[in-house]
Amino acid sequence: MEKIEKRIYMFNEGDKSMKNLLGGKGANLCEMTNLGLPVPEGFIITTLCCREYIQRGNSLYSELLNDIDLALTNLEKKCDKIFGGKNPLLLSVRSGAPVSMPGMMDTLLNLGFNDETLEAVAQNFKNRKFALDSYSRFIEMFSDIVKKFPRENFNQIDMELEKKFPKESLEFSEKRLQLYKNLYFKNLGENFPQDVKTQLLMSVEAIFLSWNNDRAKVYRELNNIDENMGTAVNIQRMVFGNLNNKSATGVAFSRNPANGENKIFGEYLPMAQGEDIVAGISTPLELEDLSREMPEIHKQFHKIAKDLELHYRDMQDIEFTVEDGKLFILQTRNGKRAPFAGVKIALDLIDEGIIDEKTALLRIDGKDISKLLKGNFKKESLEKGIYLGKGLAGSAGVATGKVILTSEEITGPDCILVRNETSPEDLRGMSIASGILTAKGGLTSHGAVVARGMGKCCVAGCSDMIINFEKKEFSLGGRKISQGDIISIDGYTGNIYLGALEIDKGNIDSNFKRVLSLAIKYKRMGVRMNADTPEDCAVGLKFHGEGIGLCRTEHMFFKEDRIWAVREMILSKTTEERKRALEKILPYQEEDFYQMMKLMDGKSINIRLLDPPLHEFLPVEKKDIKIMADIMKTTLEETELRIKSLEEHNPMLGHRGCRLAVTYPEIYETQIQAISNAALRCLAEDIDPHIEIMIPLVSELKELKFVKSRIIKTIEERTGNKKFRYSIGTMIELPRACVVADELAQEAEFFSFGTNDLTQTSYGLSRDDSGKFIEQYRDNHIFETSPFEVLDRNGVGKLMQTAIYFGKKSNPDISIGICGEHGGEERSIAFCEELGLDYVSCSPYRVPAALLAAAQSAIKSKS
Ligand code: PEP
Ligand code: MG
Repeated sequence: MEKIEKRIYMFNEGDKSMKNLLGGKGANLCEMTNLGLPVPEGFIITTLCCREYIQRGNSLYSELLNDIDLALTNLEKKCDKIFGGKNPLLLSVRSGAPVSMPGMMDTLLNLGFNDETLEAVAQNFKNRKFALDSYSRFIEMFSDIVKKFPRENFNQIDMELEKKFPKESLEFSEKRLQLYKNLYFKNLGENFPQDVKTQLLMSVEAIFLSWNNDRAKVYRELNNIDENMGTAVNIQRMVFGNLNNKSATGVAFSRNPANGENKIFGEYLPMAQGEDIVAGISTPLELEDLSREMPEIHKQFHKIAKDLELHYRDMQDIEFTVEDGKLFILQTRNGKRAPFAGVKIALDLIDEGIIDEKTALLRIDGKDISKLLKGNFKKESLEKGIYLGKGLAGSAGVATGKVILTSEEITGPDCILVRNETSPEDLRGMSIASGILTAKGGLTSHGAVVARGMGKCCVAGCSDMIINFEKKEFSLGGRKISQGDIISIDGYTGNIYLGALEIDKGNIDSNFKRVLSLAIKYKRMGVRMNADTPEDCAVGLKFHGEGIGLCRTEHMFFKEDRIWAVREMILSKTTEERKRALEKILPYQEEDFYQMMKLMDGKSINIRLLDPPLHEFLPVEKKDIKIMADIMKTTLEETELRIKSLEEHNPMLGHRGCRLAVTYPEIYETQIQAISNAALRCLAEDIDPHIEIMIPLVSELKELKFVKSRIIKTIEERTGNKKFRYSIGTMIELPRACVVADELAQEAEFFSFGTNDLTQTSYGLSRDDSGKFIEQYRDNHIFETSPFEVLDRNGVGKLMQTAIYFGKKSNPDISIGICGEHGGEERSIAFCEELGLDYVSCSPYRVPAALLAAAQSAIKSKS
């Protein structure tokens, strides 16, 4: 067990650097207290205590109990109130993880109400109705969070009472409290606890336990948050936004979280408590309105929000409450923002002199960069679209899909989740759907906040939309839309359309371009693209891909116009037959290479010679086998037999890669001819081809020499005295290749790590089949992430280090890169920076995020 020196911190004892110990909320409450902001007094039980509580089998222990007593006494003194006394101290008890997990864990407000304190509060505040309502709220929350008796059970009481008494009447509140207590007793078999200390301790336990509730676990999994951190518990004097008409509660951002505009943006509800806003139960008012209703408070808040932004040097998400005309700040944190806003805010903060370029780059999330590429509705399509109505622009992006009214029924990204409001239970559905549409709630409601975090398009609070869950339909804009109908939603404008609008992807705006150029300024490694076609090259070049790190030539063979010749080549029985088939393929390859060389003029093009097992290209269906037999002027049976004879038990370890060139040298010869011809054509047109010829799946020096000598011979035969720039190297994708890298580097001018195969072969884990059980490995924490997604530093990484060390020892000039899928994954890119690789290569759409990750890792490695 970890040694704990101090279990509880009063708000004046911590600061913002202590997030791991005090949780984000607690650390910032301390910081704001130190800054002299109006923060209600309180203390924090640390995350260590939560971990200790869990390790001790979920039990509160004497040292912690003693410390809570001491802190309570201290707090009573600071507030000049007594917990459970005549001038009662009432508390808010809130969770607070080191990493923000909005809405995932629990909160209790109004703690400390019992039958006696009720009377005291009613008298002290001279407001009995408020006291009654706050007590009722507490019973409802306590039942829900501590006793797991859901708060919805209380709704019926309200509905019944509303028929008999006006909601505003004292009678309503008196009756409601009694009925709540009765319901509690009836269902939980005991009276509502009157001992305030018991209330508190039970609530602390519930908050500790909420760290491991299902929705928090799902959130952590989706956001790669460490399972073991635990939550702190913030215990704070209650201030009441529901006290009177000079009271309110609100949430505001120091800049607009949806579009990044430098303007305070927020919402508030008069006569309400914080939970009312987050739950999205009623649609709040805009902060602008507060400037009319409570101008002084609005001014004061404005100043605090901007001061906090300057202090934290980032956009802040601030919770506040006004109690009887007095402003209190209850939380500040760096605000979650939509991808577009994230980029804009980081860049604006540079221009405003608040942060430098490197800090701005580190602030931008690589995922956001990819999300920026999600695009917009095409203009023509928008003009033709059938407009249904409008909600709030909750989260940027656009989506088209079929309407689905429950999260459980969401099957894929072709769905749009349509709800009255979302709750954390909808998390999984939201993560799968392509967009989210809600009828209720503001921009800070759960649906909008979570969608922004996920980078999902969301239109929130479309109050004209009436959903009928029984009939599985909703009405909007005078139409009935049934589950399964296609709609389109626009998270930039809040507009909702019937039917599928066309989406324009890859629409790069100026902020996006500026991030890319800043990334290029600070990165060390090259970022290339894996591109197999001229179209791929064009996309990658648009995103500043600096060259091609991998052209998988076999992908060029799959096109309909050439596949039959390729099949003929594979099924040939003699070298002559094979050569005849290769003759047919040659012009296709040459033209593809020529087009790519033209586009890449002067930039490196790494062309990998044929790699995969040959039978992957062969026809499977009888009708196709018949066509093949006709082409080859043989029988169906004969062709089937030939196909069968090519089958392998373990094709990934079989007749593939350079092994094909050992048995059928004419295949690589043809590819080299195609490269040479294309290069000569380019030279004639003043285009500068810069070719890296890459030999796959090499494990043995003699194998490399064998293939390389034939490549050189073919080039020389083809090009004579006309020279184009080329080098010959190998992929490093087998453990043996890593270990004998010193030998291979004598012959190879470059290495490129094929970490897909290197992962497969070092784990002995099939890249094609392991998906079936990797999930269970993740569930059981054997793998935190799939090693095919995030590079395994400990094993595969060590093999890479070995290869780099030995490779450079025998050939100090050797260039080394990576072209496996890991080359586009940010954590793996950081590792490649540590290894000192020359470049990473990834699919064209991943190039922007890879550039950013390369810059971020270069900045971090220098700091
Ligand atoms: C690799 O193995 O990492 C690689 C890039 O090659 P492929 O995925 O084509 O086997
Ligand atoms: Mg490979």
